[in-house]
Amino acid sequence: MKILVTGGAGFIGSHVCEELLAREDEVVCVDNFNDYYNPRIKERNIVDCLEKRNCRLCRGDILDFSLMRSVFEKENPRKIIHLAARAGIRPSINNPFLYEEVNIRGTLNLLELAKQYGIDNFVFASSSSVYGNRTEGCFKETDMVDKPISPYAACKKAGELFCYNYNHLYDLNCSCLRFFTVYGPRGRPDMAPFKFVDKIARGEEIEIYGEGTSRRDYTYISDIVGGVVAALDKSHKYELFNLGGANPVQLNYFVSLIENNLNKKVKIRYVEKQQGDVEMTFADVSKSREMLGYEPKVSIEEGVRRLVEWYDLVYNFRRNPK
Ligand code: NAD
Repeated sequence: MKILVTGGAGFIGSHVCEELLAREDEVVCVDNFNDYYNPRIKERNIVDCLEKRNCRLCRGDILDFSLMRSVFEKENPRKIIHLAARAGIRPSINNPFLYEEVNIRGTLNLLELAKQYGIDNFVFASSSSVYGNRTEGCFKETDMVDKPISPYAACKKAGELFCYNYNHLYDLNCSCLRFFTVYGPRGRPDMAPFKFVDKIARGEEIEIYGEGTSRRDYTYISDIVGGVVAALDKSHKYELFNLGGANPVQLNYFVSLIENNLNKKVKIRYVEKQQGDVEMTFADVSKSREMLGYEPKVSIEEGVRRLVEWYDLVYNFRRNPK
């Protein structure tokens, strides 16, 4: 089976590509290696995949419709995992037009090509941020999601709507996966898990927004990959699926786990809560469990242990403590 993975050199994309290649799928990875974070990290993410004979890379922008069409023409993929996007909540507030362009127009480009080339299944990376700012209860796919508090969240919701529309009009099978704070090896350097590990390891102060009591439903990367691959294999006409850890933890607890694993005391500066940040996230995964066989397996304690172990391996923290 040949699968097009957009954003394949990113954090989640590179893990997804690895999994697909391991089971002998053919993978065509599209990525523009933009500088939202250091592109060298993305090159490193994908380097092992590119050594496999069943992997090809197209360096290009999903906004370039004719380039994307030539990829479909040449490669004839049968399924798509669409992960390419501008990620990050706060930067979307500073640059809403860029987010609108890449995350909405880019998604529409791929849906249109998926329609034209008769794609069997379109898997779209959505986000828990569509649930808006809630303070209680767990989030179900049937909940109202009409109150995004960042352009990023609004764009992800728009992506889901276009997926619905393409299913309605053209029978394109679409599964929209709402990822909940993904962390683990190769984690995005702009996200709290990596940033905290890196700063604490270097003995630098970390900034915590609010009082550290906000809660996140952190999801370990291998659990996300399991959910993505399950959604790829089991086509649905149009479905939304939460992929979360189903166990929200306070930021303060998350930081204490990092401290313990690094065996370092953290210096914290508490600063004002940022616009766009939600108070809590909490995935109800019963639908994903039932329809995809999804099961989050890695506990937060084990996940942080693995994250720190990976960090140590790559950044030589224990051998070169600063
Ligand atoms: P990432 O930034 O590491 O990966 C995204 C990749 O897409 C990058 O390699 C980037 O270069 C590529 N890309 C961006 N714009 C592109 C364009 N115009 N053309 C081609 N490639 C482009 O981010 P990630 O954390 O791996 O996220 C993957 C997807 O999952 C994104 O859609 C993101 O919004 C979504 N998501 C992530 C999380 C999370 O916790 N990491 C949570 C919710 C949703």
